[in-house]
Amino acid sequence: MKLFKFSIVFIALLSLFAFADSLSVTAAEHSHTFSELYTVKPTCTENGYTVFSCDCGATYEGGIKNALGHDFSEEIVCFERATCVSYGEGGRYCKRCYAKKDIVKYAMTAHRPVIVTQKATVKRNGKIIEECSQCKKLYSSKDIKRISSVKLEKKSYVYNGKTKTPSVTVKDSAGNKLVENRDYTLKYSKGRKKTGKYSVKVSFIGNYEGTKTLYFKIVPVAVKNIDAVPSIASVSLSWDKAGGASGYEIYIKDKKLVSVKNTESLSCTVSRINGKKLVSGTDYTFVIKSYKKSDGEKIYSDERKVKVSTKPSKALISKARRPSSRTVAVTVKKQNCHGYEILLSTNKSFSNPKKVTVKGKSKTSYTFRNLIKGKKYYIKVRAYVISGGEKYRGYYSDVKTVKA
Ligand SMILES: [Zn+2]
Ligand SMILES: [Zn+2]
Ligand SMILES: [Zn+2]
Repeated sequence: MKLFKFSIVFIALLSLFAFADSLSVTAAEHSHTFSELYTVKPTCTENGYTVFSCDCGATYEGGIKNALGHDFSEEIVCFERATCVSYGEGGRYCKRCYAKKDIVKYAMTAHRPVIVTQKATVKRNGKIIEECSQCKKLYSSKDIKRISSVKLEKKSYVYNGKTKTPSVTVKDSAGNKLVENRDYTLKYSKGRKKTGKYSVKVSFIGNYEGTKTLYFKIVPVAVKNIDAVPSIASVSLSWDKAGGASGYEIYIKDKKLVSVKNTESLSCTVSRINGKKLVSGTDYTFVIKSYKKSDGEKIYSDERKVKVSTKPSKALISKARRPSSRTVAVTVKKQNCHGYEILLSTNKSFSNPKKVTVKGKSKTSYTFRNLIKGKKYYIKVRAYVISGGEKYRGYYSDVKTVKA
């Protein structure tokens, strides 16, 4: 019963508020005075309205304006293009709120394969990739092997007055030959006829990139017809003029002894090595190279060697004796040489002597036998060397005599 009574009071209060937008209600303590608080405009799908409020905090919504409804485009437009991995979408759209309707789907497009080349160099491999330019789907990938060798046919030519154009061979790391004008181009430096240093620039193209410069030389002709004439303490050398040369250098081992210009007579005499005089009866191997100065650098020919032996010095008989009847034994003082010639004669002038050649410097004695008993024999000795196929002899020793 009590609950029922309360409900009636509540309903009465509610009915008071229901008429509030058009009425000013007088309550016991307060009479509302409503004014506009804010207005919400109608949208495509929502009604609009105005909110009124009283200072006391009471509010109500009024002035309802109906939802506007969508304003769809007449034409169907594309919202999103189709790609090779997603469908496209189109339809009409509301010009006000961009709501969509009459949705259509567009079929996916085909992939767009393109070939992308990462060029190979001397240092690294390259790649040829076939992929879709849109979604990067990979169709194929092939390595381009790096360039592993770039070689000239020849690095050194001997001057002959003709232009030199060495071919170039380029190979990849699998040993395949690269092709000129497809994989690389060549640029030779000018001239290439005179003695000098020249370059070939290899520029990589096509599937390759980078450059490499190779060098080759045209060297003077090596010296020819070397003539070496030995003396006891010096050697005279001469040779023919070499094509493409501007000078010549004479060495012994790696020590340069003499430099001779092309304009001078092509000869020299070597009498000292490292400040020391040449020693008699000794073998020397001289090295001769022709050269030409080109851009401040000496370009040398191949070397030529000549083996020379200096002449022996005067020989000396250390002993000449009669060990037994009809016999004369001669001992020579050992010296630098290739051998000794020992002469024995019955006369001072050595006409028609017995002549013996003892080979090698270490065999220093010889015995003449079956001589005429009691006859006085004259003996003299000289040392020899064989140099350049010729025999060079030293001075005779003093003469000694022995009775057989
Ligand atoms: Zn109020
Ligand atoms: Zn709309
Ligand atoms: Zn694709």
